[in-house]
Amino acid sequence: MKPDTALIHHGYIAPQEFQSPQIAVHKASSVFFPNVSAMRDRNWLDKTGYTYGLHGTPTTFTLEERLCQLEGAKHAVLLPSGLAALAQVNLALLKSGDEILIPDNAYAPLKSLAEVELARWGISHQYYDPMHPETLAQTISPQTRLVWLEVPGSVTLEFPDLPALLRICQSHGVLTALDNTWGAGVAFPPFNFCDAADPHQRGVDISVHALTKYPSGGGDVLMGSVTTCRDDLAKTLKLSHMRLGYGVGGNDAELVLRSLPTMDMRYKAQDASCRQVAAWCLQQPAFAQVLHPAVATSPGHVHWRDLCAQAPAVDAPVHPGGAAASLLGLRFHSRFKQSQVDDFCNRLALFKLAFSWAGPISLVVPYELKSMRQMAKPALLEGGYVRLSIGLENPQDLIDDLAQALKLFHQPN
Ligand SMILES: *Cc1c(COP(=O)(O)O)cnc(C)c1O
Repeated sequence: MKPDTALIHHGYIAPQEFQSPQIAVHKASSVFFPNVSAMRDRNWLDKTGYTYGLHGTPTTFTLEERLCQLEGAKHAVLLPSGLAALAQVNLALLKSGDEILIPDNAYAPLKSLAEVELARWGISHQYYDPMHPETLAQTISPQTRLVWLEVPGSVTLEFPDLPALLRICQSHGVLTALDNTWGAGVAFPPFNFCDAADPHQRGVDISVHALTKYPSGGGDVLMGSVTTCRDDLAKTLKLSHMRLGYGVGGNDAELVLRSLPTMDMRYKAQDASCRQVAAWCLQQPAFAQVLHPAVATSPGHVHWRDLCAQAPAVDAPVHPGGAAASLLGLRFHSRFKQSQVDDFCNRLALFKLAFSWAGPISLVVPYELKSMRQMAKPALLEGGYVRLSIGLENPQDLIDDLAQALKLFHQPN
């Protein structure tokens, strides 16, 4: 054998006896079969073997299993972003003529996906007000195939009555898919939460998780997952996932696996800091409203308490009232101009101007709610609005940063 061939046909065999805290990064497009009959018999659907890198490696299978553990699911598929995971559910389950329902305060790119891409393929959508379950009941039609759910709403964090919404969907025999990025498997178990009105409540059919947020925790990985307890849906999702050519890289999967052991602690620490910042913000006259599910005056606070105070998915939360993630919305008094709100954001030093959340660095984004909502209550749309994502900094430093940026409102214009 010539040296150039020997470099390729080397004698490396993965060590069987090597054990350490972290799983190896297995990367592959090609996966070797021992003989032709094994190649012909390949079956990647039930994970009994490896067939091709796109369909899974020991690293990605391990991540799928841990995510199932986290969310209480049976099956998982991984996608290159949270948005790709949202898209995948639609692509796998819908056909031309179907209709989907989306909460008006849903993650905005899901709305764009429906308005442009799904519409082109003859899949229609309607919005419903998640804070009024009766509007969902009125909107479901014979064409409705899938109802999207999100708790709390993106950006404005109103907390809907999830069990009530689910009961409506289930009584109409409509599939449900929850964007579970906020709950993350920590705040409540998406496939098995208790519903005081229905002891047989089985939870949602599908959960989508932007692993980009808490599971990554570093602000450095983009990934998403779709999980389910239903064998029939899992098969449909996996076949579609294969046909669409989705997969994730081994290095990225390993980064998420490395962060998962600390996720519960990070979630709770960021949650605690976020409440400390929220409590301080409630004292500031510049803010007309502080939106955070654990704040008693925040829309849907009671629904948050009912859902998240019950058996939490991962042990006891730091707060007896339940877990509440690390997002916080601030609505400024309408006497402040948008330019002042922008100046406030620009003056923040520790809070960086950036999208995404749940990483170590606190972030701020100003939003123009009027352009984002079809049906929100008028009160919510008045005044400038910013969303804070609380990171892992000392919360007192974050409060000091907010205080120095707020000083600009005390100066004459
Ligand atoms: C970030 C986010 C997504 C999308 O995740 P990406 O990985 O950024 O595509 C979906 N839903 C919610 C609620 C999110 O916060």
